[in-house]
Amino acid sequence: MAATLLMHVEGQPAGLAGQRVEVRLTAEDGYTADREYSLARSGEPDRAEITVQAIDGGEVSPFLVEDIEVGVELQVRGPIGGWFVWRPEQTEPVTLIAGGSGVVPLMAMIRARRAAGSKAPFRLIYSVRSRDEMFYRSELRQPDPGVDVSVVHTREAPEGSPRPAGRITVADVNNGGWPPDFAPTCYVCGPTGFVESVADMLVALGHDPHHVRTERFGPTG
Ligand SMILES: Cc1cc2nc3c(=O)[nH]c(=O)nc-3n(C[C@H](O)[C@H](O)[C@H](O)COP(=O)(O)OP(=O)(O)OC[C@H]3O[C@@H](n4cnc5c(N)ncnc54)[C@H](O)[C@@H]3O)c2cc1C
Repeated sequence: MAATLLMHVEGQPAGLAGQRVEVRLTAEDGYTADREYSLARSGEPDRAEITVQAIDGGEVSPFLVEDIEVGVELQVRGPIGGWFVWRPEQTEPVTLIAGGSGVVPLMAMIRARRAAGSKAPFRLIYSVRSRDEMFYRSELRQPDPGVDVSVVHTREAPEGSPRPAGRITVADVNNGGWPPDFAPTCYVCGPTGFVESVADMLVALGHDPHHVRTERFGPTG
């Protein structure tokens, strides 16, 4: 289960697509827990939008997804990060590759491209367990000229899908992303194991490692 939270933040910069914030929860006894969440939308002064996936047995994410109520005060620090970002002045092709909730900062990039009226050609490869676990499904299905989306289902492929369910392969990366000759910037985000294997695939396909930017969300693959 996942939820998008809209937070009113005071005195915070609007942020770039790809940046994250740190959210601090404080219990009544003073115990605190800090977790990082990517901005799902950039460029909004005084607002932070995040999408959180509830991790089974997690300390913070189930609270943010299931229990938090409107009006609760949280401490939010950021935006943080200057490398895993897309700026509207970038004109080169962009390949975005997401595993699960790793789509959040990549969605912020797609939204920033749209908001800026950018013509930079984008391709998103989105790996999800099943169709039901896809974040932002209706938005990603809307036509967005210059943004091509391909979905890799790892556990359950939709009926009639030409691709059987299975983990992302070199062929998926090759077919769904820009070829190395186009010198795209590649942004890869998701669980650590996913990010490492996709980054290896990109380099094996001939992409310049300096053009591969990664963000790891979790401790395990
Ligand atoms: C830069 C950055 C950006 C992030 N952005 C997002 C975001 O946009 N949306 C989002 O939902 N999460 C995001 N995360 C992950 C988030 O920070 C937390 O790790 C996640 O919400 C779990 O926190 P928790 O307190 O519920 O679990 P914890 O109590 O910290 O962990 C519980 C158990 O789950 C495992 N675990 C922790 N995190 C993950 C994970 N991501 N995947 C699988 N297992 C995990 C732990 O090893 C542990 O066994 C981001 C992480 C980083 C580093």
